Amino acid sequence: MNHKGVDKLHDLHYFGEFGGVNPSISDSSTYTFLSAKTMFDTFEGNTEGCYLYSRHSSPSNLYLGEALAALEGTEAANVFASGMGAIASVVLQICDSGDQIVSSRTIYGGTYALFKNFLPKFDINSVFTDITNLKAVENSIRANTKMIYCEAVSNPLLEVADIAALSELAKKYGIPLVVDNTFSPLSIPAAELGADIVIHSLTKFINGSSDCVAGAVCASTAFCLRLKDVNDGAGMLLGSTLDSLRAASILKNMRTLHIRIKKHSENAMYLASKFEADGLKVVYPGLASHPGNKTMKTQMHKAYGFGGLMTVDVGSLEKANTLMEMMQSENLGYLAVSLGFYKTLFSAPGTSTSSEIPLEEQKAMGLSDGLIRFSVGLDQNIEQTYQKMKGCMQRLGILTSDSILSAS
Ligand SMILES: *Cc1c(COP(=O)(O)O)cnc(C)c1O
Repeated sequence: MNHKGVDKLHDLHYFGEFGGVNPSISDSSTYTFLSAKTMFDTFEGNTEGCYLYSRHSSPSNLYLGEALAALEGTEAANVFASGMGAIASVVLQICDSGDQIVSSRTIYGGTYALFKNFLPKFDINSVFTDITNLKAVENSIRANTKMIYCEAVSNPLLEVADIAALSELAKKYGIPLVVDNTFSPLSIPAAELGADIVIHSLTKFINGSSDCVAGAVCASTAFCLRLKDVNDGAGMLLGSTLDSLRAASILKNMRTLHIRIKKHSENAMYLASKFEADGLKVVYPGLASHPGNKTMKTQMHKAYGFGGLMTVDVGSLEKANTLMEMMQSENLGYLAVSLGFYKTLFSAPGTSTSSEIPLEEQKAMGLSDGLIRFSVGLDQNIEQTYQKMKGCMQRLGILTSDSILSAS
């Protein structure tokens, strides 16, 4: 696998109107036309380079869209006001009432709630399967199935989808493979591997500064135009539009994504290996013990590593909560949901980001209550972070002194 994504991203440069090194921000909701005829043509979707109204498109949003398309290697990309805005638009664009989605059962809690609780109002129903079991996925496909939906690396269990194999299956049935690549930008070239539509919550790694929510859909030009169609485009009509000021700030943050992802991955690999050696139950796609390790290796860009997310099972929710509070007071990170920040963020998914998933289903998919999800930060001195985290675990009896002796 090459590094086309970053090369293409860095090849793009737009100058501001006064020669600024960053493009000017389009600070307008509406745009003037020199002729009435051009306005009509733009409504019909026939005019390149003309802006109509910023819910449809704006220069700043288009710049960010181009950068995301370069990153994912797709023809085009549209940006949204949030990751959920992107997901809802894709699903409602493709599915009509009576249709079905075949979805991975381990997905972001909000996506799960959308599929399980909200879409049935429109008679769009979802079957949740183990995405790593291709037979199970194939057996769930019916005549009314309109897409296979999964996350490249899933939230929070870090299951790794075999995108090439799923893409073959999707092609066999003539349906699109939709992949949420929020956990693994740059590491997993989802579109190159065969995903038809790649979704990102830009809120996470791509923006990386935990200061806004935003989303993106990377796909063919035809699909991106459909989403924007003034008559029946879900992106245009559901109104989940990103503000131009935010699009501009996200574009600037994207310039350093490749450096950040490498560091997140390096730090996560370090902590995961150390904690596993200490005898903790660690889930990290970079560990040989991870069931998705082989699949990940065949589809990843090595330079960006196995990503910044790992989970540790500390046995019970009480222990998890006490440990997280202690780590926060030791300034090792924040007890907060979300991911991709410079600081480590930790949360117990069972009672937070995946609480939408009923308890029995959480159990069935292996989401135990002692599970802590770490979005590992950009710590310069990760050895010291490890020592301090280990100290907290020792004090709480999560690590015994025996296991520490045998590991050192
Ligand atoms: C956060 C997240 C989303 C939702 O994105 P928002 O920007 O919060 O709307 C979707 N998928 C995954 C994997 C996420 O982590």
